[in-house]
Amino acid sequence: MNKTFSHKARKRFGQNFLKDEYIIQKIVAAVNPEKTQNIIEIGPGQGAITRQLLELCQHLDVIEIDRDLVKHLKTIFPDSEKITIHNVDALKFEFCQLASEQKIRLVGNLPYNISTPLLFHILENAYCIEDMHFMLQKEVVNRMASPPGSKAYGRLSVMIQYHCEVQSLFDVNPESFDPPPKVNSSIVQLKPHNTKPVRVKNYASFSHLVTQAFSFRRKTLRNALKNLLTEDQIKSCDVDPKLRPELIDVKSFARLSDLASEQE
Ligand code: SAM
Repeated sequence: MNKTFSHKARKRFGQNFLKDEYIIQKIVAAVNPEKTQNIIEIGPGQGAITRQLLELCQHLDVIEIDRDLVKHLKTIFPDSEKITIHNVDALKFEFCQLASEQKIRLVGNLPYNISTPLLFHILENAYCIEDMHFMLQKEVVNRMASPPGSKAYGRLSVMIQYHCEVQSLFDVNPESFDPPPKVNSSIVQLKPHNTKPVRVKNYASFSHLVTQAFSFRRKTLRNALKNLLTEDQIKSCDVDPKLRPELIDVKSFARLSDLASEQE
C-alpha cells in the first residue's frame, strides 16, 4: 500500500477497509477467478481485494464512487490495460454492459449503508450474472439465506431466493476492518438460477405483493393482502389465508402474485 496516502474513512460511503490479509485471501480463494473471466469489483476502496484479484485476472473492472479513492487507485494500479476504473455510483451502474458472450462475476466488500437497495438493483441485472461474492452484515446474510418459518425470513429472503441460490460462506469479525464496523459480517455467495424454480408473470406485481405481505409481519395474509386478493382467492392458490407471511414459500408468493396481476 502507498504509505504516503492517508484517507479518512467516509461514513456516508460505508467505508470500512479490510486490513486482514488472511480474510482477503479467503475471499479471493472463494471467488477463485480464472484469468479470462469477466470480474467486476464493487467498491474497491484502497485496493485491498483488488490487488489480489489483479494477480489472477487478465483484466478487472472496478466501480468506485469516491473520487479521492479513484485518484489513489489510479496511482497504485496505473496499467489501464489491466484495470478499468469506473468512477460512478454502483446504484446507477448498468452492470450488463460489461457482459460479453461471458456473463459477469461480481465481487465486493459492499458499503453496508446501501446494501439492500444495491442488492435489489443488482438483481435487476441477474440475467447477465454468473455469480456474486459479497461481504455484508451477518444479519443481512442471515435474512438472505433464511428458509420460510425462520425468524429472519422476510422480503429480502423471498426476493433474493427468487433469483438466486444463496450460500453463507464464512463470518468476519469487526477487527478485520479499519475502522471496525459496529456489526459482524459474513461472506455470501449468490448464484442466479440457470432455470428459475418459479417464474412470475409480472415481476413488478410480485415485488409489490411481497412488500405488502411483509409490511404487516404480524398480520395474517388475509389482512396483509386484503387490498390485493380476497380470502377465497388466496385459498384458490393453495395458501392458507390465516397464515402469517413468514410461513409462505417463494412458490406460493409467486402463485398469489400471478393471480393478483391478472386482475390489475
Ligand atoms: N473493497 C475495499 C476493502 O475491502 O477494503 C473497500 C470496501 S468499503 C466497505 C466500501 C467501498 O464502496 C468504499 O470504497 C466506498 O467508497 C465504495 N462505495 C460506497 N458507496 C458506493 C456506491 N454507491 N457506488 C460505488 N462504490 C461505493
